[in-house]
Amino acid sequence: MNAREHEAQHLLQVYGQLPIEPDSADGVYLNEGKRRIIDFYGGHAVACLGYGHPAMLEALNEQARTVLFQSNAVAMEVRAAAADALAEFAPGDLNHVFFTNSGAESNENALRIACKLTGRNRVAAIEHGFHGRTAAAGAVTWGARDKWYAFPNTPFEVDFIPRDNSAAVDDIIGDDTAAVILELVQGLAGAYDLDPGFVRTIARACRSKGAMLIVDEVQTGMGRCGEPFATNIYKVEPDIITLAKSIAGGIPCGAIIVTGDVAKSMASGDLGSTFGGGPLACAMVSTVLDVIKTEGLMENVRSLSAQIAQACPIGPVDSVQGKGFLRGLRTRRSASTVRNELLERDLLVGTSTDPHVVRLLPPYILKTKHIQRLLGALAELPED
Ligand code: PLP
Repeated sequence: MNAREHEAQHLLQVYGQLPIEPDSADGVYLNEGKRRIIDFYGGHAVACLGYGHPAMLEALNEQARTVLFQSNAVAMEVRAAAADALAEFAPGDLNHVFFTNSGAESNENALRIACKLTGRNRVAAIEHGFHGRTAAAGAVTWGARDKWYAFPNTPFEVDFIPRDNSAAVDDIIGDDTAAVILELVQGLAGAYDLDPGFVRTIARACRSKGAMLIVDEVQTGMGRCGEPFATNIYKVEPDIITLAKSIAGGIPCGAIIVTGDVAKSMASGDLGSTFGGGPLACAMVSTVLDVIKTEGLMENVRSLSAQIAQACPIGPVDSVQGKGFLRGLRTRRSASTVRNELLERDLLVGTSTDPHVVRLLPPYILKTKHIQRLLGALAELPED
């Protein structure tokens, strides 16, 4: 019996799975016996430092041996240090952190704060965006209500703004809008980078109507776009950014980072989480940020990402979208067919909700030789 068959015995069958079962992983490789698969997917953008990075192993070991867990009821230096590092990494006035365990939990809390502080009951999101599977995060996820949402009501009224349609913004963001939530580069939608003018129009409308701007950096953040956050690239000033995925390199963790103004309005008991801010996760947050800096990984992301953009179109790839290591390769043939053909050549890439976009979310430690392998394989595939 293989692992897939074994899983099917006692796990709910809610996932489509890839036809691989790695038994080990190192660097950017997933290993299946002697087979070495280059991982351009990183477990949904989580494995930002790849697998078995010595700094991560050492920090994990050290923290596990000192204090494995204490909740927020006990102050800990390791938690304070992780918050310091995130506040320093984040742009502008974003300097107060609340730790969660996932992207959905981060967005849930960000939306809760916006409704509480504005006293309003409408939230606007962007068509094709994805924000997670909980009640509030799912409510602002495009298409969720038709596919899987299942709750009888959403916690607030939701408006969807058509993507890149600046003319629609003023009709939708009104005096009753608590917040706009958006991904600057829409990840699951295929690394679709929103038009900067559209984003500026939304930011202006938020300011003039007193709505909060929440930037979901769950997929784009933590250096993935070649800058600390996509917010740095788009030069917007959100009230809250939300994080998860790469933040702790593979240990479950999420966070929201809020401005000083938002922080001032928060009181004891407003937010909470048993596991959020646990010492193991916090040790990893500090380690991830430290390695990103000391190994020059954002520079690596920028330079290799430019190599990908420059070398395309190639084979079935028509054009490239996205930023940094959140890239969408627009394919003339079905993206899932191209993904399968690449996997047969020992290259793991992702797909997206766009049936013609293959998604790349590789570890930041990727090297030029890995890109060359990908380009070589793409060049071998049928174009149309
Ligand atoms: N926001 C974005 C942009 C995401 O891509 C995801 C997950 O794919 C989420 C939120 C939800 O994160 P999680 O699965 O950790 O709840």
